[in-house]
Amino acid sequence: MGNIFNRTNGRAWKLRQRSMKLWPEWTKKLNTKTNPIQIKTPLIKLANSEDELARMKLLVKQKENLGLKIVTKDLHTLSKREWPFNHYGGLLSKNDGFLNPITLQKSLKELLNKKEVQQIPESVISIERRSSQPGQRWGIHLTDGSFHKLDSIIICCSLGAESLLKQLDYYIKQEPILGQAMELELKSDSYDWSNWPAVLISNGINLIPRSNNRLWLGATLEPSLKPNNDLLQELKNLKGNAPCWLLDSKIINQWYGLRGRPVNRPAPILEKLEPGLIVAAGHYRNGILLAPATAEWIGNKINFNGKEYF
Ligand SMILES: Cc1cc2nc3c(=O)[nH]c(=O)nc-3n(C[C@H](O)[C@H](O)[C@H](O)COP(=O)(O)OP(=O)(O)OC[C@H]3O[C@@H](n4cnc5c(N)ncnc54)[C@H](O)[C@@H]3O)c2cc1C
Repeated sequence: MGNIFNRTNGRAWKLRQRSMKLWPEWTKKLNTKTNPIQIKTPLIKLANSEDELARMKLLVKQKENLGLKIVTKDLHTLSKREWPFNHYGGLLSKNDGFLNPITLQKSLKELLNKKEVQQIPESVISIERRSSQPGQRWGIHLTDGSFHKLDSIIICCSLGAESLLKQLDYYIKQEPILGQAMELELKSDSYDWSNWPAVLISNGINLIPRSNNRLWLGATLEPSLKPNNDLLQELKNLKGNAPCWLLDSKIINQWYGLRGRPVNRPAPILEKLEPGLIVAAGHYRNGILLAPATAEWIGNKINFNGKEYF
């Protein structure tokens, strides 16, 4: 789902903290029989140097209430399926972990349908300012030629936000950072993932155990719109450091997506630009983690007439 302890600016840290508080409430509300939503914990981030370990120790001291603790390099967890970058130990976050993004999307769609929220499967071509009077301050033109008058609009279409905002004379730049990930099947090595964390972050790589002989490995960071297969192979062989069990594995699924990274400013972009004009984009690598705090921020910026959005 994410990683609470990346170094980040103060505002993003606050959003992370708030999201971590809200996620248990969200999972309770989104969980259904058809789409079971569960956060699998914990998450371990291994340190890459003594310096990084020292910073992690400081964080544990400063943020006692976050459920963080230091794990040592003789971590029993990683002993069976050996991991090459475990030289210093690292940090364990007991509340952080993995949430299946596909199930999450299905569950959110189910909720939208239940709440009878109108969904229009068209893209927005342009936005126009209409009047300063509340009620129909904004107009949007869609790809099917339709036009809709609205009181408020939330521009939350990641990289698509830039061109829509430009038409309104706002220049908020983002760059695409492509990410590739894969699902791997291990040839039987007679071990399983028992004692492994739900997410292992090491050397910039996220490893997520799935079933006994399957895992997800991700993700590349490519400033590009097209995936580079060499970088996917580099990820799989850990730049030449992969242990045998990983080298022998087979890619059974692979996918990629574009992350919107704000240029010359920290992620994410959350701004109320004018009455009824809100932008929530540029979440870069943490859009899922930050979804609850982002939604709460948006809810506070627009008038829901006291209605709850769940
Ligand atoms: C491989 C990979 C791994 C990731 N792992 C994590 C992780 O572990 N944790 C985490 O928190 N985040 C992770 N992320 C990042 C996360 O996916 C993003 O931060 C998040 O998806 C951003 O959400 P969003 O809704 O702002 O944008 P998006 O998910 O990019 O959605 C934007 C949507 O807007 C639509 N759109 C664009 N233009 C228009 C238009 N003009 N009109 C209508 N619709 C439009 C697009 O079609 C798209 O559907 C990962 C990303 C990748 C690629």
